[in-house]
Amino acid sequence: MKLESNVLTVEVPSQWFYEWLEEHYITVLKKAIIGTIGPDGKLQYSIIVDRGNQSSQPMSIQLPQKGAKSTVQTTPFDIPEVQQNNKESQLNPNYIFDNFVEGDCNRLARSAGLAVAQKPGITSFNPLMFYGGVGLGKTHLIQAIGNYVRSNFRNKFVLYVSSEKFTSQFIDALKNNRIQEFQNYYMQVDVLLIDDVQFLAKKEKTQEIFFHIFNHLHQMGKQIIMTSDCPPRDLKGLEERLLSRFKWGLTADLQLPDYETRVAIIKSKMQNDGIDIPDDVTEYLAYSVDTNIRELEGVLISLIAHSSLNRVEIDLELAKQTLKSIISDIDTEVDIDYIQKTVAEYFDVNASALRDKVRKKEIVMARQVAMYLAKEFTKHSLKAIGMHFGGRDHSTVIHSIQAVEDLRDTNSGFRASLEELKKKIKIKAN
Ligand code: ADP
Ligand code: MG
Repeated sequence: MKLESNVLTVEVPSQWFYEWLEEHYITVLKKAIIGTIGPDGKLQYSIIVDRGNQSSQPMSIQLPQKGAKSTVQTTPFDIPEVQQNNKESQLNPNYIFDNFVEGDCNRLARSAGLAVAQKPGITSFNPLMFYGGVGLGKTHLIQAIGNYVRSNFRNKFVLYVSSEKFTSQFIDALKNNRIQEFQNYYMQVDVLLIDDVQFLAKKEKTQEIFFHIFNHLHQMGKQIIMTSDCPPRDLKGLEERLLSRFKWGLTADLQLPDYETRVAIIKSKMQNDGIDIPDDVTEYLAYSVDTNIRELEGVLISLIAHSSLNRVEIDLELAKQTLKSIISDIDTEVDIDYIQKTVAEYFDVNASALRDKVRKKEIVMARQVAMYLAKEFTKHSLKAIGMHFGGRDHSTVIHSIQAVEDLRDTNSGFRASLEELKKKIKIKAN
């Protein structure tokens, strides 16, 4: 909206936008601001509260960048002076149970989470581990537990940390000879929330210290909650003794939301943001965006953006256009090489074999699937696709696509594999 002295003001159509930007783009924004305005550059948001009409001016509220404070807010082993911050929980207050929509996909995880939040360290769900693919609510849920405990048990020290941050803090401590301090800090925690433990893979030293902290906390009856992108049995590169402890408590998975849950999530997000959207739009979006909840949120954000920037109502037409513009972004970002690589990995064959004359059954199948996906995800002509597959002609491509479609329509196992592959490609494209 404006740049005055060193303050850049960005106007956003709602609180939710502001939070979304802060959550997903703050590093990029910070870099851009520091790069262009310099180290004193500041970001300020102006949130439209009322768009106004002829007789009244639009009204907006101004909020400083959330992260503005967090540059000085750091754990004590980085900067010893800020000891008073050592009870900082690092939680995002927006992640709470109230706005975590329940569905078949998350019922067990959510209720186990709530049970633990109500009785931290007392239930047999210790540790509690959530696992599931990206964007399915692991971070939201684990933080909801933290926020719940913080508001209901004021004397408990709740700490949220991602495994990456834990690792980098550990490395810093190691460099500065402050391992003891690091360990003591974590051993004071009453409820430790550690996100994405798959990132501890192959980091033996970090695992070792985590193992000690884990044992100490567990023995003292403190609560440990973790998330991971896969079940403990599939966590590669983690020490067996750590894995065996992960299995002591309860493991609950988060699955892809079904259609009804997607509808409920859209309604809840829109309601929280004070935006009304027609039922047919909700249904259309719930039907079309079936990958994960983060992606669903992304689409809602774009939709609100289109509506608010162009000052038009949200209707089915706009929803379709928005989705189309997002999907065509995907088209331009995925190339055939990437599709070949993904498909080859999936079927455990060599990507170069897809371009060779090899006629082995599993290669032929993988090649046909890759052609089919190339048609679906790129704008290349059949002829161009053929060229990418070792100079095959366009009738071979047509035949391959036909073969994949036939199999897709008759074999549900194959259909599921195809869906999974599409998801992988779409996720990458984002
Ligand atoms: P993960 O950590 O599994 O990758 P997140 O917890 O970051 O996923 O969730 C992605 C986005 O989807 C977040 O903005 C979160 O608030 C939202 N979300 C996930 N699950 C739900 C749910 N059940 N109800 C409402 N919002 C959800
Ligand atoms: Mg997460």
